[in-house]
Amino acid sequence: MTTEPQIRKLKVAWFSFSCCEDNVIVFSELLNDHWLEWKKLIEITNARVLRTKNVMEDFDIAFIEGAIASPKHVEKLTEVRKLANKLVAVGACACTGMPSAQRNYFNVEQKANIQPLVDKFGSLPKVLKVSEVVKVDAEVPGCPMDPSDFVTKATALILARRAELAKEIGISA
Ligand code: SF4
Repeated sequence: MTTEPQIRKLKVAWFSFSCCEDNVIVFSELLNDHWLEWKKLIEITNARVLRTKNVMEDFDIAFIEGAIASPKHVEKLTEVRKLANKLVAVGACACTGMPSAQRNYFNVEQKANIQPLVDKFGSLPKVLKVSEVVKVDAEVPGCPMDPSDFVTKATALILARRAELAKEIGISA
């Protein structure tokens, strides 16, 4: 007896950069409501707040919250982009830089006051939104993100990726 090939579960990751991490709390709340249906389709392979063991390997979808404030952030985000089939900026900090990027708009005196801290922590001269560093495939704006917009966009990405994988193995999604 031969078994029909199955679409594998999508590998999903969540990364937090410079922010208050409110979006991942909203995401955790959404898992309470949607995990039973989502766990048939996805596995979370990297999410610091949800797992103790995280892997840096190919991701089908990587969600990014927070602004990019240091060279280490740039390096990590660039690595994630290389591994991710789709990369989604989540929340205002990731989509626009603000409110985490408030220091970009400080006056000369304020900038002089904080310069010792910028130097001490090796921060970038200017805080960046995610799309200033890597290509972004979708954005879920809001501070924090709008849960229903997240579910709509995440579901569309999951279904599109499943359709691609189904085509690769010659079955219908
Ligand atoms: S977008 Fe708002 S809620 Fe989300 S991490 Fe930034 S400051 Fe926090």
